[in-house]
Amino acid sequence: MKNWEKNVRKVVPYVPGEQPKEDHLIKLNTNENPYPPSPKAEQCLRELEISAFRKYPDPECRELIQAISRAYGVPESRIFAGVGSDDVLAMLFLTFFHGTAPILFPDITYSFYDVWAELLRIPYETVPLDEEFAIRPGDYQRENGGIIFPNPNAPTGRLLSLDLIKEILDANSDSIVIVDEAYIDFGGESALPLIDQYENLIVVRTFSKSYSMAGMRIGYAFGQEHLISYLNDVKFSFNSYTMNLPALKIGAAVISDQEYLSMTKNKIIKTREWFSKEMRALGFSFSESASNFLFVTHEKVDAKELFEALKKAHIYVRHFRKPRIDQYLRITIGTDEEMQTLVAFLKEYL
Ligand code: PMP
Repeated sequence: MKNWEKNVRKVVPYVPGEQPKEDHLIKLNTNENPYPPSPKAEQCLRELEISAFRKYPDPECRELIQAISRAYGVPESRIFAGVGSDDVLAMLFLTFFHGTAPILFPDITYSFYDVWAELLRIPYETVPLDEEFAIRPGDYQRENGGIIFPNPNAPTGRLLSLDLIKEILDANSDSIVIVDEAYIDFGGESALPLIDQYENLIVVRTFSKSYSMAGMRIGYAFGQEHLISYLNDVKFSFNSYTMNLPALKIGAAVISDQEYLSMTKNKIIKTREWFSKEMRALGFSFSESASNFLFVTHEKVDAKELFEALKKAHIYVRHFRKPRIDQYLRITIGTDEEMQTLVAFLKEYL
């Protein structure tokens, strides 16, 4: 080993879902939205002045933050924006999880949380979900350096009610509690109104799922002014120009089109309900999903084998080789046609 190697920060990176290069495939493995973004995105892109690329973008992301503020009726001082919610979450870990007590998150959850904790040397403990993959608020009543969970949870799709979120917040007034609402638009009640009441709550959102803009990389967070201010101090100590000009402008245009959001999310919810019925009829079990994916298992089918068979048929879903969930597949809700093709394949396979 060379001497300098001792000084390398060695980490095990997060592994995102595959982005296959094939043309004709059904891609249900990374919870992308099957519909295009609002037509306002294209209009805005066409109107972009290329000469403006000469200058640095606005480090305060003002135009985007103003648009988020209008869309959700939250003051600008309570909003933070970043390069996808991954960037926002990484900044949150860096800013708020700086204590010595372990931060807590579920044992089955977004698999980036432990990666950031390891990268930033934050002590953490995972809290087992119950048998039905539900979060038990009572398990979060112990000393901790912060709490984070997605709602609905990923990859389970299970929703935690606002009452139970309040139970966690009430028992943890000395900790920062982050609710990652990447999938909230697909059927959950948002914790956003609770930020008035709880000075320790941060709610994180993304443009990647309900707004169909995973490729643009836009995420944001809501919290009381003092929290956003701490977050900005860390951001401006790391990289001032996180968001590029097209993302700032197109994000602002897209979030102003709430009518389009509502139309596409309702289509996905309708497809999910149809697909859920079909999957139950085929013998798959899963808890009700409040997200744009189902997390399914089948008594008579090995999940890994089915995953491979689907891939051969050019249908990509997600399989996690992890304790408790290696017999499950996470399937994103695509278009009606895509889900019909998948159901036809499964009927044949079974
Ligand atoms: N949180 C959860 C729970 C997710 O599943 C994802 C998507 N991988 C993200 C955050 C990050 O999404 P993005 O960076 O695209 O906003």
